[in-house]
Amino acid sequence: MALQLKDKDAYQRLNYLYQAAHCVLSQNPENVELARFYCFTQRTIARRLVLRQDPSVKRTLCKKCCSLLIPGVTASTRQRRKNSRTRFTVVQCLSCGQSKTFLNDPDHCLWVDQPEAQLEQQKQPDPGPSVKKQPKDTKPDVSSKPSAAQSTAST
Ligand SMILES: [Zn+2]
Repeated sequence: MALQLKDKDAYQRLNYLYQAAHCVLSQNPENVELARFYCFTQRTIARRLVLRQDPSVKRTLCKKCCSLLIPGVTASTRQRRKNSRTRFTVVQCLSCGQSKTFLNDPDHCLWVDQPEAQLEQQKQPDPGPSVKKQPKDTKPDVSSKPSAAQSTAST
């Protein structure tokens, strides 16, 4: 049980930044820039360490300007319909205008919730109970990390 979850500190920091962005906006909805700074830092950490963020987190972040998307505060939410059956939820960032489109499908199942993905996760040595992640190849420039992951580096 030396390291039960790789990059645990980084995940805790991502969590902290995400909550800080919510906290800032709840106290002062005008303070969009500070919340964006937190979310930008969050994305930078996740990209550098190649961490997978939960889809529920990714849905609330603008991929263009990194704003935290809260309906009515920093984002507008509209219902669009394509035909009588197909409807979409369009979340538009009020800062940059970038929009996300979600299909309204009650039976939609995320890939990480499907049994095939669970089987794939069980092959990994560390079962993360709450955080879903896929350990990709560990970069050598991430310093002071014991290289437990088997890499494809030749001898
Ligand atoms: Zn935006």
